[in-house]
Amino acid sequence: MLFDSHAHLDAKQFDHDRDLVIKRARLNEVSYIMNPGADFESSVEAVALAEKYDFIYAAVGVHPHDVETMDDNMLALLKAMAQKEKVKAIGEIGLDYYRDLSPRPLQKKWFIAQLRLAKSLDMPVIIHDRDANDDVLRILKEEQAFETGVLMHCFSGSKELARQYVALGAYISIAGPLTFKNARKTIEVVESVPLERLMIETDSPYLTPEPFRGKRNESMYVKHVCQKIADIKGIAYEKCAEITLNNAKAYFKIK
Ligand SMILES: [Zn+2]
Ligand SMILES: [Zn+2]
Repeated sequence: MLFDSHAHLDAKQFDHDRDLVIKRARLNEVSYIMNPGADFESSVEAVALAEKYDFIYAAVGVHPHDVETMDDNMLALLKAMAQKEKVKAIGEIGLDYYRDLSPRPLQKKWFIAQLRLAKSLDMPVIIHDRDANDDVLRILKEEQAFETGVLMHCFSGSKELARQYVALGAYISIAGPLTFKNARKTIEVVESVPLERLMIETDSPYLTPEPFRGKRNESMYVKHVCQKIADIKGIAYEKCAEITLNNAKAYFKIK
């Protein structure tokens, strides 16, 4: 039984076979999926998917790439959506200085606004941090986000940074790049973070793990991330699956 803590099943890459992909996940022991929003529309679609499938849950939020579309009205609409039964977090939100698709001051402004939205609703957050380690950590601390829960998705930082996050009470989610040849840095992260603080994800349709790298990713491939973590930690696959599932259920407050 696996919990894919981050999948974009609403993405257009699944338009021709979405229901099949979801069925395949279920048949391959994926018993929970968290589908975060990336912009306003995809947040709406994430909620619709969560309302259609009992084992899918949603987060609503606007990704740093898309914050130029945001305004106060949209923030209010996100707040209303966040209070629906199947919505369990605000995300994905954060900063992306790698692709810099939106101006950095705007990224920060809406990152902070969405962190405050999460706080006001007593909800945890799903954080996207690409090449913005210092600003993300500083803002999370300033906004006291750790009190309501911080999940660092597709973690790509150092083991030192991972340790800082763990000390602050955050969870670290590991994606497909762990299975790539040059994964030394992320392997060290897995070695140094206790299993009780790890989650696994696909970030599908992106970041497909080996041996399917290069193809479209989907939730059933999360087992390859689980297997790699089990190998690194020298534990049984089943134990990795069970603990990461329990971590995600507790984090998202799923009964
Ligand atoms: Zn992301
Ligand atoms: Zn994502």
